[in-house]
Amino acid sequence: MSATGMNRREFIKKTAATGLVLAGTATLAGCGLGSGGESIKWSEEADIVIIGSGFAGLAAALEATEAGAKVKIIEKMPTPGGNSIINGGDMAAAGSKMQAEMGIEDSPELMLEDMLKAGLYLNHPEKVKLVAERSVEALEWVMNYVGTKFVTVNYHGGHSVPRTHQAETGSGGDIVRPMLDKLKEKGIEVETNRKMVRLIQNEEGRVIGVEVLDKYKFGQEDSGTPVFIKAKKAVILAAGGFSQDLQMRMIHDPKLTDKLDSTNHLGATGEVLRAAMKIGAMDVQLDWIQLGPWASPDEKGFGYVPHFCERLVGYAPMINPKTGKRFINETGNRKVRADAILEIGEPVIHVADEYAARKQVIPSSFEGGLRNGSIKQFDTLEQVAEHYNIPLQPFLEEIQRWNSIVEKGQDDDFGCMIFPDAKPMTTGPFYAARLWPKVHHCMGGLVTNTQCQVINQDFEPIKGLYAAGEITGGVHGAVRLGGCAVTDCIVNGRIAGQEAAKEEAWS
Ligand SMILES: Cc1cc2nc3c(=O)[nH]c(=O)nc-3n(C[C@H](O)[C@H](O)[C@H](O)COP(=O)(O)OP(=O)(O)OC[C@H]3O[C@@H](n4cnc5c(N)ncnc54)[C@H](O)[C@@H]3O)c2cc1C
Repeated sequence: MSATGMNRREFIKKTAATGLVLAGTATLAGCGLGSGGESIKWSEEADIVIIGSGFAGLAAALEATEAGAKVKIIEKMPTPGGNSIINGGDMAAAGSKMQAEMGIEDSPELMLEDMLKAGLYLNHPEKVKLVAERSVEALEWVMNYVGTKFVTVNYHGGHSVPRTHQAETGSGGDIVRPMLDKLKEKGIEVETNRKMVRLIQNEEGRVIGVEVLDKYKFGQEDSGTPVFIKAKKAVILAAGGFSQDLQMRMIHDPKLTDKLDSTNHLGATGEVLRAAMKIGAMDVQLDWIQLGPWASPDEKGFGYVPHFCERLVGYAPMINPKTGKRFINETGNRKVRADAILEIGEPVIHVADEYAARKQVIPSSFEGGLRNGSIKQFDTLEQVAEHYNIPLQPFLEEIQRWNSIVEKGQDDDFGCMIFPDAKPMTTGPFYAARLWPKVHHCMGGLVTNTQCQVINQDFEPIKGLYAAGEITGGVHGAVRLGGCAVTDCIVNGRIAGQEAAKEEAWS
């Protein structure tokens, strides 16, 4: 039985039935056999062909190169980095040196528990355990091997303790750029403007290469020339999620219409995931698509407000402008908060005083938000109420109540975690932003085992095919916690690169 679940005779019967011609088996070392059965003329080759140049693809490339494999990195956009390079630079790790220095007690077991709880226990146990257990190792690899500097440990809703390590400038670019530099030192440049459109298998179902549109221009779907790249050992799919793929996301969650913006880069579409499914890959939980509850309707894409809002949870309240009251646990996970905001039906307000804003928020994000108008400054709470049309008296009473909660250090209303250094908000200036969810992360994707091999419809690995990062499913279950995507991508990208390099070359 082959990796596609078909033996040779069945495969021939199937391709013959579709009227397609099989290439002679004698020529297969030099040629490939497309899923349609046609003979393939290779124009390039590598041991490992990696699709996508985000955290997962670059981590895989670095590990595979260290193991002596020749790699090619294929990227459809004009610049490398995908969502990873625009990411917020927060990486979750449990039990790190930096946490210990800050007096934070944590463990992989607690991180696992948090990820499972948020994921509604839909997480694939062995995959989520691997990420939690290897989180510190991954962080140290990024610090020591890649050379990224982390400056502090932040809290994100849904975690039990602060555990997201913030890269120096609060951007995934702090990780991606040195990874690109390291690869360049090894003679590897990301091959941009090349879009993978198809996986090529041989007659046993082993993935032996890819079809790529060379000189592809994103957005011009008729651009590019087909080129076939032979992968002597393996293909690694690291093409990210599909948050910007309107058609695909609406099939899995029809509520996610074009009325909702996305935080993602424009190339976050699902064709690579579908190409894998076309050759029999198994998918999981594609309808668990996360909305970022901390996004602002007053700026495009990710913007500055997520850093403002997420750093304020546990220090400052979120208000329903219709009632002037709080409505949710601000330190709840992303789904809990996004659902509550959507139910209100209009943007909600996160409001803070100078102390919380200056203490918590990354200065560049804070200044950026003030500059583009998505964060506003007010001298008094009365002005906040007037600007956002919030009923004044209930709002002032709610702020008083919030202050008493902060003084007590305990929230009996919604169970929000109140941080020990939080202070009551009494004097201006005050800062506020409107929040409305945006499509942010695809928890679902390809099913992979702990070696990052892609699993087929017969529950077997597809020979020669690996995947890592947001294109895969299973790690996060129903809800991904903040900072855990970077960890997932680094842990599994490295494994995919190491394991693919061990494959025996087929030619
Ligand atoms: C704005 C933003 C902020 C975030 N902040 C954080 C954070 O602070 N912490 C955290 O843990 N997570 C965060 N996330 C989530 C995290 O960044 C992503 O899950 C992660 O970057 C995904 O990495 P990846 O390598 O799987 O994919 P990506 O980084 O998206 O890379 C995939 C690449 O594949 C390319 N590609 C796609 N299709 C093809 C094709 N057909 N042919 C060739 N190339 C293709 C894409 O163009 C892209 O460059 C954030 C996400 C966003 C959008």
